[in-house]
Amino acid sequence: MYHSIEKMPKSTIMRSLHVPPRRFKFQMWLLKILGFKGLSMRQLKPYLTGEKQGKVVGITFDDGYQNILLNAAPILKKYNFTATCYVVSQRIGVSNTWDLKNKITQRPLMDLSEINKWIGQGMDVGAHTQTHKDLTQIEDGNIFDEIKNCKLDLEKSLNISIEDFCYPFGRFNESIRDLTKKAGYSSATTMIRGRATQKSDKMLLPRIPITHHTLPHLFLAKILTNYEDKR
Ligand SMILES: [Zn+2]
Repeated sequence: MYHSIEKMPKSTIMRSLHVPPRRFKFQMWLLKILGFKGLSMRQLKPYLTGEKQGKVVGITFDDGYQNILLNAAPILKKYNFTATCYVVSQRIGVSNTWDLKNKITQRPLMDLSEINKWIGQGMDVGAHTQTHKDLTQIEDGNIFDEIKNCKLDLEKSLNISIEDFCYPFGRFNESIRDLTKKAGYSSATTMIRGRATQKSDKMLLPRIPITHHTLPHLFLAKILTNYEDKR
């Protein structure tokens, strides 16, 4: 689980969300030399269902920052990896406005042509609701709209099928999980820490957070050991 790939100044609020490009590049290189293939959620799914076997790692970017097109896509392409970016359908081309109330540093989000460039480079797009609301904090009647309409918005504007969902702020409950399935998604990622297996609920997939502070030895422990599974 990545968010932003950009070198940010020390004054940045929530700097942990931003992984410097050089560090990201080293992490992708590590995956490559260890024999892993980095995959989008769409391409990861057959491994989660047991149809395919192999050394694979799902790579996701939440929120749709412009810097992943500029800084992550060239590195992913270099190693022949793919990745999924979870887009907030009513915030395309704007910024992470949902973080304003917590004074978290604003960064530009990809606009439609940039998302198309991301897709054009072999990358994939998933849904992250229409407005990035905490789904556990809104009225029941609005939950399904936030989830389903994001899929409809993105399928209409990007002309591809949208199959993968990510819960904003990692917040969900059982009914939100069921509504996500009902909306037609075949996977959903959380912020529960751990490595996904064939036994994982496809609608509640755990992830491994990679932050500004994830140095190479920690990155290796997170990928290769049960370091995250016990947390
Ligand atoms: Zn998010």
